[in-house]
Amino acid sequence: MNWYKKIILSSKNIQFPDDIEEQIDEISNKTVEYYFSQQNEKIFGGTFNFINPYNNQLNSIPTIIHPFTIEFKNTIAIFNPQKRILSIFPYHHNIKDINPSNFFNYIKSYIYHEITHAIDPKFLIEDWWRNRQDVDYLLREEEFDAYSKQIEQTIKNNINDINIENLKMWLKTDNTDLMPGCLKDHLDIIQYWKINKPIYMKKLKQRLYNFFIG
Ligand SMILES: [Zn+2]
Repeated sequence: MNWYKKIILSSKNIQFPDDIEEQIDEISNKTVEYYFSQQNEKIFGGTFNFINPYNNQLNSIPTIIHPFTIEFKNTIAIFNPQKRILSIFPYHHNIKDINPSNFFNYIKSYIYHEITHAIDPKFLIEDWWRNRQDVDYLLREEEFDAYSKQIEQTIKNNINDINIENLKMWLKTDNTDLMPGCLKDHLDIIQYWKINKPIYMKKLKQRLYNFFIG
């Protein structure tokens, strides 16, 4: 890999445009509504519009909400970097006791991840993401960047004194048992990085420290 490509691919703490959170909430709400009204048509959920901080241009990301779609049955949301479209599959969830409030948080977390891809400057460079299939999914820089934003969002969503105390303890040690309880859904990924890419663990902890404590 040449130096130029390495810089393009490097991991970044993706900076979110100011009003993106409200737009995520809006589309999450629309998705929850869609799900509970048991619709079976593909619908246009809206467009994310933001000035991308990495190229200062207006980005518009159309968002489509889908009915159950067998070929994507393991996908909740996906960003297509070629068409720059976000697709959401609310019927593919695996929540047992579903209600509008837990489903909102669930969907929001996935949209958060995908919108990170849409903002990520790596995805703004034409075709860089091609031929990446041979890179282990969880070790891809773009996935690390999106999951670390998603993890940050999960803590933000569950912020209280206990979780912050646990976060502080966990950041000081190497013991994943000390992680805040709200991160339990991310445990497998965090363990995977710990074993296979310790530098990601270090960066994740740095990002969380800077955001919540520093
Ligand atoms: Zn991803």
